[in-house]
Amino acid sequence: MPQDIALYIHVPFCRHKCNYCSFVSYEHREADIPAYLRALAAELTRHANGVWVQSIYFGGGTPSLLSPTQIGDIITDIRQLYSVAATAEITMEANPGTVSLEYLSTIRGVGINRLSLGIQSLNDAELALMGRSHTGDEAREAVRMVRHAGLANLNLDLIYGLPGQSLTDWRRTLEAASALEAEHLSVYGLSLEPETPLWQAVQKKEIPAIDPDMSADQYELTEEMLAAHGYQHYEISNWARPGYKCRHNLTYWQNQPYLGVGVAAHSFIKGHRLANTGNLDKYLAAFSDNPAAARDTDEEISPQLQLAETIILGLRLCDGLSLDGILIRFGVDLLEYYQQPVTEMVKVDLLECTNRQLRLTRRGRLLSNEVFWRFLPQ
Ligand code: SF4
Repeated sequence: MPQDIALYIHVPFCRHKCNYCSFVSYEHREADIPAYLRALAAELTRHANGVWVQSIYFGGGTPSLLSPTQIGDIITDIRQLYSVAATAEITMEANPGTVSLEYLSTIRGVGINRLSLGIQSLNDAELALMGRSHTGDEAREAVRMVRHAGLANLNLDLIYGLPGQSLTDWRRTLEAASALEAEHLSVYGLSLEPETPLWQAVQKKEIPAIDPDMSADQYELTEEMLAAHGYQHYEISNWARPGYKCRHNLTYWQNQPYLGVGVAAHSFIKGHRLANTGNLDKYLAAFSDNPAAARDTDEEISPQLQLAETIILGLRLCDGLSLDGILIRFGVDLLEYYQQPVTEMVKVDLLECTNRQLRLTRRGRLLSNEVFWRFLPQ
């Protein structure tokens, strides 16, 4: 019986590193793209073993640094090696300033049916602070080109909680982003990762620190404004027009199997979590020599940890978790198994349970990490 999976392809190249970025991405390494594509093809061949692909996601990095022909060749390889559902969602991340109308029309022609644009803000001062290599106008132009190219499923990424960003600044960004009428919005609070230029600037007091109260106010404003603009809030950081939830990411939140291919890619297959090396040179060397060396970790996830992870990921969804679904999948009555923490968290308005669905309250969404750790095994 083939296993349904979501397939993630990591493209670790960027024109330059943004000031907040801690993702596995490399600048000034575009000359390695041909070798990287050969390694990807080899890794895809290694894993082609009775799986049924429901979604494909090109993430990065900046996948739009690959040519449409290179993207098309990867999709052709996947279709030859795997069973791909006719209705598969095939997403590609792109950055404004890296795409043209011709580029977008061609990638649509080779199979991309969902585009995720990393616009982050439409305010040029904020974009400069983040070290993004595009302006707000270039982001608007990219959205116009996406529509002219006929791509009808568009996500925009936005970031709030920037140092010095007021509620009014964020309101303007939300208004401007809503006016672009994307089908989906992913809205993340800025996290200052150690050693990034933005983190260093805060350490040196060149810019103010993130204000957590302001971030919470901005999050609440996001919930109100996007609801008023007709978006359905379906995951802590994600909003969609009806019918446009991201099917690929739902696989992660439902803790279903996924296969990640490429440098630093993670997989969750048959109860094992696998992680590839995050080192590009090691990854490239492995695939010209010993493919097994590209894998950094292979960890068997105990049933108890799988249960905890399924609860934590499922609670990220605004619909919450089906208690019956947990019972069928793990043979566990969640309300009995976690009686004490659930009772306590319901009492303090972090969780609610109705119609056999357990979900975060509005307050719980703001304090989600306080909730999640209570489900982890000792
Ligand atoms: S575009 Fe994305 S992956 Fe690349 S440097 Fe910027 S934040 Fe990092």
